[in-house]
Order: sequence, then C-alpha cells, then structure tokens
Amino acid sequence: ATPAAILVGSGRGAELGVLFRKGSAIETLARVDLLVFDKTGTLTEGRPRLTHLEPVAGEADDILRLAAAAEAGSEHPLAVAVLEAARERGLTWPGTDGFTAEPGQGVRAQVDGHQVLIGTARWAAQQGMAVDATLAARIEALASEGHTPVVVAVDDQVKALLAFADPLKPDAAAMVAALKARGLTVAMITGDNQGAASAVARRLGVDRVWAEVLPGGKADLVRELKGEGRTVAFVGDGINDAPALAQADVGIALGSGTDIAIEAADVTLTRGELARVITALDLARRTLGTIR
Ligand code: ADP
Ligand code: MG
Repeated sequence: ATPAAILVGSGRGAELGVLFRKGSAIETLARVDLLVFDKTGTLTEGRPRLTHLEPVAGEADDILRLAAAAEAGSEHPLAVAVLEAARERGLTWPGTDGFTAEPGQGVRAQVDGHQVLIGTARWAAQQGMAVDATLAARIEALASEGHTPVVVAVDDQVKALLAFADPLKPDAAAMVAALKARGLTVAMITGDNQGAASAVARRLGVDRVWAEVLPGGKADLVRELKGEGRTVAFVGDGINDAPALAQADVGIALGSGTDIAIEAADVTLTRGELARVITALDLARRTLGTIR
C-alpha cells in the first residue's frame, strides 16, 4: 500500500475505535492467517463469580473465611470473586502472616497459624496433597460445564472444591464465526483448566485450544506458531498477555485491558469491543487492496 493509503486507513481506524500504533501494523494485519485469543477477560467478561463451594471436610463458611484471608493479598479475578462471596455471606477474615502467589497456579498464606493453599488441583497434588478419585471426577464434571475449578487446602489437607463461572462476552461467538467466514484460523489460550477451556472453545466454535498454560507459555506458543510459518495476531487484555502481544506479528489489546497490555500491542481496540477485531481486519485488508 502507498503511504497515503496507510495514512487514510489509520485515520479511518481511529474513527472506528481501532488505533494502529504504526502503519506497518495495518500491512501485517492484512496478512494474518491465525488469531490467538486469550480467554479470560478477552473472550469472557473476566469477572468470575463463585458458583460452587463443596466442602470435602469441615464447614463451608470456615473454609471460605480462610480462603478469603489467603486471597486478600491477590489481585487475581478469582481472588476478587472469593472475597466477594465471603462478603456476601457476611464473613470477616483475619490478616495473613506470609503470603505468596504462584502465577498461573494459585496462592498460599499463613492464616491463624494454618497453612492455606488455594489454586489448581494439579498444583495442590504437586505439593503432595491428596486429590482422591471422587474429588477429581467432580472437578472434571464442573470443568466440562465451563466452570473454573480450584481447591482449598488447609495444612496440606484438601478441604473444599470451589468453582467459578465467567460468562462469555455476548458478541464472542459471532466474532469467531465472522473470522472463520473470512478464512482465518481462530485459537484460544489460557491458564485455566483443560476441561473448562474445551467447554468454552466448543461453545464459541474456536478451532484450536491450549489450556493450563503457565505464564510465559503464551509468548512461547506464539513464537512456535510463527516458526510454523503462520502470520499470527494475538488478542489479549492482561498483564500476563504482554509478552505474547509483543511476540505476535500483530498484538491487539483491548482498550478495556491493562496499560501494560496496551503498551505491548501494535493495535488497540479503544472501546474494548470484540467486534472491532473484525473492523480492524477488514480495514487492513481493504487498505492493502486484498478485499474491496
Ligand atoms: P488465565 O489464563 O485464565 O488468566 P491464570 O494464568 O491467571 O489464568 O491462572 C491459571 C489458573 O491458576 C486459574 O484458572 C486458577 O485455577 C489458578 N490460579 C491463579 N491465580 C489464582 C488465585 N489467586 N487463586 C486461585 N487460583 C488461582
Ligand atoms: Mg485475560
């Protein structure tokens, strides 16, 4: 495309809520054949709610109180949901002595002299905690419905299963269909449970899905896909998406996302609307004369 055409395309994009940081992003976007979406906060609302609290041993409120105390130091959306649920039940919780967050796995804290862990069942099991077959089956059942399951352990004993629901954005399925209609491959990547991710992917019609990916893994995957000769756009909103946004041929950040994601991206969808991904793509292709 001529510099003038790029300039016109950028200007038109700005009017439509699509900010290109540099003209070359328009040209690259026109060639993209694979879009990889972050799940949480990008395809879903990113505001999970606690839907299930199933004690294995002990009282639900006692467990939730300890879980809330442990999560009070975390800014993770699941932590916010735990605190909200505890507040709704009129619970209060003590401060913690030690708190550590393990990105992509969960948190651990010392509460009232007890060691509290809340996070993925896989992580709990890796720490030597028993996750019996009944519990594992329940986790898979909830995940297969699209819920995010985590366990709460106290002093190395799993005490409860928690599950969260994070609604899909209303326009996510239509956007995926529109991208596929344009001949693109649509993929999703998440740190969430495999079963939960598959359920979401099925509902949206996503072609490929990678789940239980640890932080850092998103950028590694984008690098691999580029190595396979794909021209890759990554769409995300979170701090943990920044490396993948930077690694992608085109990084697309939701304007509703974190500043760090926006900084790392080549394109920002200022209104944070998923439908603008289609707008951006069509604009790029039209600018390059790939479509009319
Ligand atoms: P996502 O890709 O959905 O943003 P993350 O990488 O942040 O996921 O987290 C992956 C998984 O790790 C979560 O689905 C959850 O099971 C667990 N996890 C991470 N942080 C926490 C936390 N603060 N409390 C409980 N579980 C957590
Ligand atoms: Mg996200």
